[in-house]
Amino acid sequence: MRPLRIAILAAAALTVLAAAPTSVAEASSAAPHAKPLHVDKSQSKAASGGQLSLQTNGTQGVVSPAPQVYLVFWGSQWSSDPAGVAADMQAMFQGLYGSADTWGSIMSQYCENAPAGTVTCPSSATFIQHPQSSPLAGVWFDNASAEPRKATKNQLAAEAANAAAHFGNTTQAPNLNAQYVIVSPTGTHPDGFGPHGSFCAWHDKTSSSYGTLAFTNLPYVPDLGAGACTTLTDGRLLSGIESTETHEYAETVTDFWPTAGWYNSSGGEIGDECVNLDAYLTLSTGTFDVQGLWSNKAAACVTSG
Ligand SMILES: [Zn+2]
Repeated sequence: MRPLRIAILAAAALTVLAAAPTSVAEASSAAPHAKPLHVDKSQSKAASGGQLSLQTNGTQGVVSPAPQVYLVFWGSQWSSDPAGVAADMQAMFQGLYGSADTWGSIMSQYCENAPAGTVTCPSSATFIQHPQSSPLAGVWFDNASAEPRKATKNQLAAEAANAAAHFGNTTQAPNLNAQYVIVSPTGTHPDGFGPHGSFCAWHDKTSSSYGTLAFTNLPYVPDLGAGACTTLTDGRLLSGIESTETHEYAETVTDFWPTAGWYNSSGGEIGDECVNLDAYLTLSTGTFDVQGLWSNKAAACVTSG
């Protein structure tokens, strides 16, 4: 989390819970699946939560062993994209694999099919595989009608189900690795996103007729201006959304159906401890701002591993 203020965070958590309570566990911590909008940049790069441990011994929906990203550009408002978000997000995921991706490989140490409480995965576990080709499995401009100006959490979840149908992922099996990133167009405020809101983006799960789905609410972060949602000060409008989506992608991969996956003792996921750390990653498709991730192996926030 990147708290704006404690009071605002608490209010945001209450809003989320009122909109769509998904589990009792979510009530115990403040919006655990969000990248917060405002950060105290004077704090240390790693906060107090420390090592991640596995919350459940499940064999599906815990992590995403073979990540598949579906980008959904929702709404006719995508006829305007002043910062070039759609091309940038596609380019980032087109290149995020193989030996050039020295960031995503941090996640290869985490697993499912291991005892709850695991910190170091045993060899018998099902590990997250580092993608050897692009994890971008599909792109959909769903522009038949406008996205609501302030889409609710339930409307975002419904759009994820629309996407599952659109891509033909109509059983649980493909949805054990599919993550639907609902990217909202400029000028919209999904789940209250905006300069007076509390978050940059968040991820969650939802039940649907195609099984449980993992999805992300990725707002049009460049609407906040350069420097928002990243610690880089390069003045690039796209750095903030790259930092934000790499945070959410990694958290979805390592905590696929919250809260079954990997958390630290203060309820943070792999990205939450490391919101004060960003780095550039150069792929075949461009150079992108990736957010730091917690590595149990390194016992630190790192940007490669
Ligand atoms: Zn997070």
